[in-house]
Parts: sequence; C-alpha cells; structure tokens
Amino acid sequence: MSDGPTYGFDTLQIHAGARPDPATGARQTPIYQTTAYVFRDADHAAALFNLQEVGFIYSRLTNPTVAVLQERIATLEGGVGAVCCSSGHAAQIMALFPLMGPGCNVVASTRLYGGTVTQFSQTIKRFGWSAKFVDTDDLDAVNAAIDENTRAVFCESIANPGGYVTDIRALADIADAAGIPLIVDNTSATPYLCRPIEHGATLVVHSTTKYLTGNGTVTGGCIVDSGKFDWSANGKFPSLSEPESAYHGLKFHETFGPLAFTFHGIAIGLRDLGMTMNPQAAHYTLLGIETLSLRMDRHVENAQKIAAWLEADDRIEYVTYAGLPSSPYHDRVQAQYKKGAGALFTFAVKGGYDACIKLVNALEIFSHVANLGDARSLIIHSASTTHRQLTPEQQEAAGAGPGVVRVSIGIEDADDLIADLDQALAKATA
Ligand SMILES: *Cc1c(COP(=O)(O)O)cnc(C)c1O
Repeated sequence: MSDGPTYGFDTLQIHAGARPDPATGARQTPIYQTTAYVFRDADHAAALFNLQEVGFIYSRLTNPTVAVLQERIATLEGGVGAVCCSSGHAAQIMALFPLMGPGCNVVASTRLYGGTVTQFSQTIKRFGWSAKFVDTDDLDAVNAAIDENTRAVFCESIANPGGYVTDIRALADIADAAGIPLIVDNTSATPYLCRPIEHGATLVVHSTTKYLTGNGTVTGGCIVDSGKFDWSANGKFPSLSEPESAYHGLKFHETFGPLAFTFHGIAIGLRDLGMTMNPQAAHYTLLGIETLSLRMDRHVENAQKIAAWLEADDRIEYVTYAGLPSSPYHDRVQAQYKKGAGALFTFAVKGGYDACIKLVNALEIFSHVANLGDARSLIIHSASTTHRQLTPEQQEAAGAGPGVVRVSIGIEDADDLIADLDQALAKATA
C-alpha cells in the first residue's frame, strides 16, 4: 500500500505496512519463519552492517513479518518508526535503555500496571536506574520530582487497574519544559481510543499481548517513536547524540534524524539485549489488529452498559469507570479519549476482601486470569494477585485495594455478562 495519510483508521489497521508478498503474491503477510538472509555480495553485507542500507541480516534484529507489524503499529499511532519486542515489559526496558545510565531516574505515575511498578521500583535498580513515583494529577509534584538526572516521564493513558485517565497534554508540556521525553504506555487505550503522540508524547509503548492481539495467544511489546524529540538539544541523551562506542562511533541522531531512536532500538537494543519478537507472534498480532476498531467499539459499548448496571446495584460500593458521568475523569475522557474510556475498570463489593474472593470464584463466563484486553471477559482480584508484591499504600495508590476487583470487559453479549455478574454477586454477598 502506498503511503496515504488520508486513509482512515479502519483501512490502515488492515493495510499499513503490508503489500502482496513479492515472491509469491500471497495476500496475507506470510510468517517468515526464517533466521538469516543471504547477502547479494560482500559489499551489500558491509553496507547492511554499516547501516548504510536497510535490509535483513539476522532475525534477532529484523524479520520481514515483524517489520510489517512495526510499520502497522507506527502508522496507527502516528509515529515515524517502531520496534517490536518479546513482551510489554521488554518494551519498557527497551524504551528506557537509550535514555538512561547509572544514576539516572524516571518520574513515573503511581497509577501503573502492577508489574511495571515492580519493574520500576525494584528491578531497574540493578542497572543503577531508579524511579520516582508521583500522582500525575498533581502537576506541581510532577515538576518537583524532575531533577537534573531525570531522563523521562512515564505514564499510562488509560491506567491499569482502572478508572483513571491521564491528562497526557499536561504531562507532555511539563516534560517538554524539562527537555525530557514523555513515554506513554498506551496498552489499555490502543491507538483507536487515544493517540498519545497527538497530545505531545515522545514515545509510546505497548504490551501487544493485550488488545492489539486481542485473543490471548501471544506476548509481545512495541515502542513507537514520534520522531519529534531533539535528542541533541541538552546533552542528556549521549547514547543518541554522541558517538556510540558500541557502533564504531556512529552518532545516531546526526545520522538518522527523526529515526534515531528506532535505529538505535534495533542496532543496539535488539542486537545487544536480544528481547526480540518472534515472527509467529507478529503474525497473530497482525491478525488481531485487522479488527481492532471493531473490537474496541464493542469493548467500550459493553463496558459502558455493565459499569452503569453495577453502579446502580446496591451490592456495589462504587465503580471507577471514567465513562460514567460520576467519574472525576469524565470531562477528560470527552476531551482526549473521544471514542470512549476503554473496557477496564474496578468496582468495590460490599463485604470487602471476602466478598471479592467469593465473587471471583462464582463467575461462569468471566475468567479469573492475570490478563486484560482479551475478547473474553476477565476478572481479577488485584490485591491477592497482580498487586500482591506492592505495599498496602502502593495498592491503594494504584486503585487496587483489598475490597476491589478489576474487570476487563470482553466482546460477548452484554446481557449475558450482566446475568453472570448478577448470579455471582448474589452468592458473594449472601
Ligand atoms: C500487560 C501490561 C504490561 C506488561 O506487558 P507484558 O506483555 O505482559 O510484558 C505493561 N503495561 C500494561 C498497561 C499492561 O497491561
């Protein structure tokens, strides 16, 4: 497909990055289950290794099936390039890797996926990096947390475990003024509901495991670059602006301009960290993305109905869904998330921890799993599972207190889902 900025989302989700297979004419993107690619001659090989020519060398770096997915996601997000990797968590490390060094920190929202809180508060310390967690609605606190060693601000658009949506524009303005990039995890919103780059984000990360694949088959991640950040402006990002010793002195920003981050992600990140997406996973995710907008519309419609039903039920303490008029974030949704507030939310059951456990056990259509963004409806009691490693204060700050369950509303019949919740709530609160 030729580049056509005039194509709509529904067209791009099927066609962007793909063309009939040049060898066979196959219309669907083949799974290139292949490791290495023959060089035309020794000069061609040298040009590829010098990054003077773009092509395929070895599938730890680039693979034809994965390349289609990269271009598809970059297009849907409105970025200039993307790097896919083996999981969402890999994408987060890959996003931070070119920016950080020992002694550097990232200012991160308190409202994040539980695994991200653990990755940022514990594991990245082994690299000499650290995270400072702040309430991203308190813009003064965000400003105050940024110091001379801060290299990024990190948030989720629609935040896990639910009910919160971020004012991306406000955070982007703060990051901009500090000369650092804003990284937005857009997993729960997907580019159909929110395109963070349009609101000022520099980088977008995804767990493609979730809505982009949409069927619970493979794990994957992706980093999309807006191409808009000036990596050479203030000397804070030497991996991109200075000669790279791990690449015979190449200056990525000077050489590749807006594609510097993407090239660095492949030539250094995937080459040396090796968190590569496999072609089979890319294939499943490409199939999923073809129906992204259709699924997201149904996810949102169902979530809206079910959240309203729960809110009106007297066995429920409260529902945190930003699509409800009662949500403090309802206006923000109208402004920045026009197609809806996603399908992820939490609700508190009267009866607390014990009632939540009974509810989860009694549901029949909803599956009790540590996942989200599946076609199937899912439920989890965060405090005893995904957010178990967090302190009680961190659990509350993340919206995952002991009396709360999180649902990821699927695309089944809304009436069936409501009936299932109704019977399980009867048992949980009897
Ligand atoms: C699942 C998830 C991740 C981690 O992704 P994996 O693919 O499981 O590594 C990160 N952020 C969000 C918002 C997620 O939902």
